[in-house]
Amino acid sequence: MYLKSIEISGFKSFADKTKLNLSKGITSIVGPNGSGKSNVLDAVLWALGEQSYKSIRAKEGSDVIFSGGKNSKKKGMAMVSLIIDNNNSLLDIEYNEIKITRKIFSSGENEYYINDGKVRLKDIHELFMDTGIGKKAYSVIGQGKVEEIIMSSQKELREIIEEVAGIKKIKKRKEEAEKKLEKLNDNIEKIEIIENGIV
Ligand code: ATP
Repeated sequence: MYLKSIEISGFKSFADKTKLNLSKGITSIVGPNGSGKSNVLDAVLWALGEQSYKSIRAKEGSDVIFSGGKNSKKKGMAMVSLIIDNNNSLLDIEYNEIKITRKIFSSGENEYYINDGKVRLKDIHELFMDTGIGKKAYSVIGQGKVEEIIMSSQKELREIIEEVAGIKKIKKRKEEAEKKLEKLNDNIEKIEIIENGIV
């Protein structure tokens, strides 16, 4: 599985429809400061269903819509599509090529699509679950993130590794189960007290 191309339209500094074709292996994006390199990464994260505006350097949802420039008027919609090669069937879907699309309108309303069919955000998250891609999967490391990881304390580093390895999800489920068990034991104790009182 690899990211074949990214289509961006009306997203941040990309006023007009722009298609970036990526080949297998390493791709470098170079350009002067402020030319939109990080906006490409933001677009990838955003299309994968990112819900934290901070992660994509925005204050609110509609901030990602092109706000106008020297030669172009502001847009009413932002759209990003990721075209993914799925020949190795890593994504549990019957297609060899998958197109994931996210749109946002100036009203703040978001829409998600898989192969041009409208889906829920949950479907996007489920498609990428346990693949190492998707939100908070550290598959997109933005500027400053490397430094943040290097400077992390041992506890924070452990949390990052657990998240990457997918242990965090299991740990959370374990904590929830332990809480439920504790509550159940409390209830059993209460019932026993009542029963003893009655007898
Ligand atoms: P650097 O090398 O300095 O990190 P960069 O190439 O990564 O820069 P970005 O941070 O991706 O650049 O792009 C910043 C540019 O995107 C700024 O010029 C900013 O005005 C523009 N920009 C961000 N959001 C919008 C928006 N909603 N509408 C129009 N332009 C936007």
